[in-house]
Amino acid sequence: MPQHCAANLCSNRRTVDVRTRGITFHKFPKDKNVRKKWEATLQREGFTASDSSVLCSEHFKQEDFDRTGQIVRLRDGAIPSIFSFPADLQRVGVSS
Ligand SMILES: [Zn+2]
Repeated sequence: MPQHCAANLCSNRRTVDVRTRGITFHKFPKDKNVRKKWEATLQREGFTASDSSVLCSEHFKQEDFDRTGQIVRLRDGAIPSIFSFPADLQRVGVSS
């Protein structure tokens, strides 16, 4: 079963089709503090990430990625910041 992005309202799954669109999937960080920040940004009540939880690359800014290697990696301490929650769209647009 393909892994599903943990973000609310995001329908990206880890499939070949999605991969060809240039979307990558990233596991939640092992560092507890950073992981907590990720969980908080999801705004999903009662959500706790498991070791197999992933977020897709659409929730990160370009500068959060390290694309120098063959595998696209997230930089240490990168926090997801792009979520298309309808109620939050305006606020996010203003603050960034
Ligand atoms: Zn996603």
